[in-house]
Amino acid sequence: MSAFVSAEPVITHPDSDDLFAEARRIRARRTGSVVTYSRKVFIPLTNLCRDRCAYCTFARQPGDGKAHTMSPEEVLAVAEAGKRAGCKEALFSLGDKPEARYPQHREWLERQGFASTIEYLAAMCQLVFEQTGLLPHSNPGAMTGAEIELLRPVNVSLGMMLESKSARLLERGQAHYACPDKAPAVRLATVRAAGEARVAFTSGILIGIGETFEERVDALVALRDLHRQYGHLQEVIIQNFRAKPDIPFAHHAEPDSLDLARTVAMARSIFGGEVSVQAPPNLNPAALRLLLDAGINDWGGISPVTLDHINPEHEWPHLPELKRVTESAGLELRERLPLYPNYLTDTWIPEAFRDRVDTLASDDGLVKREWERW
Ligand code: SF4
Repeated sequence: MSAFVSAEPVITHPDSDDLFAEARRIRARRTGSVVTYSRKVFIPLTNLCRDRCAYCTFARQPGDGKAHTMSPEEVLAVAEAGKRAGCKEALFSLGDKPEARYPQHREWLERQGFASTIEYLAAMCQLVFEQTGLLPHSNPGAMTGAEIELLRPVNVSLGMMLESKSARLLERGQAHYACPDKAPAVRLATVRAAGEARVAFTSGILIGIGETFEERVDALVALRDLHRQYGHLQEVIIQNFRAKPDIPFAHHAEPDSLDLARTVAMARSIFGGEVSVQAPPNLNPAALRLLLDAGINDWGGISPVTLDHINPEHEWPHLPELKRVTESAGLELRERLPLYPNYLTDTWIPEAFRDRVDTLASDDGLVKREWERW
């Protein structure tokens, strides 16, 4: 146990205690008492998307007053605000291949001199890094090998949730109907292509969207198998569906906290100590301690500046609160970079970022304490 704080007792859940205890043992072997987060600024480059996920509130269609693609000036303004607030990561999130569905967006890109949204994204990543020193991490949805090659030199890491490995969810009335980029084969091909390109990668699953428990296990095992082949999965996110008004799944049941915690612990036992396991605190404000007890070692990106544009009604908890809860479990909260400590080698850090990473990272691979801000 950490020397700086005495832990409050674990809350007991008789039918899951063994699973949770084993998950904590595995975590302790991986990171000791350290739990991490990344201080990030969220840049929603475009909310146009060709897919139609039944749980999404982010995507908009052209003509909708809230549809928006950020200009370079807007991107820089948000990034500068993030820099002033002590962020190290610029998280670019955006819809999937909107130019394939919307001629207006294709024409807008052409006027800017870009053939695709991914090309525009790459240019914005470079701009942000050059102007602010923030480390870009992009989540642009499914990617081909060529698209990953384009993004690799201008991103320290990339991400894409597998979400599910169930092709059943593509059927009419299911979560991924009319979502060509959510076909499991397409997403697994993206994770594989990232491994082949030696890109440190984030993936994970979304629970409560119509999948069975066995299908969750299937998805996690598929990710683990790819990680065994390429060694590139630095973190796995277990995200829970939250119902919102104005979506097709508005009345779909949400998974409860214990269900989420059991899935977290299961992920920990499938991945062992090698891969970070994370659950979003803003979607689970009442279950933070439970998630720690179930074996997470990371809270993900926390923004002091911008909303979570994917889940705008769920604010991030304030860092002092996250620190307090983490310490109540006998653990220590530390800031990390978008690249985890075990990926801070020349194999994984694109050349352009090596000096910047050296400046920010301490010997243990986490952010130097003098750069941390609470
Ligand atoms: S969840 Fe992502 S892929 Fe699905 S509609 Fe929303 S933005 Fe598009």
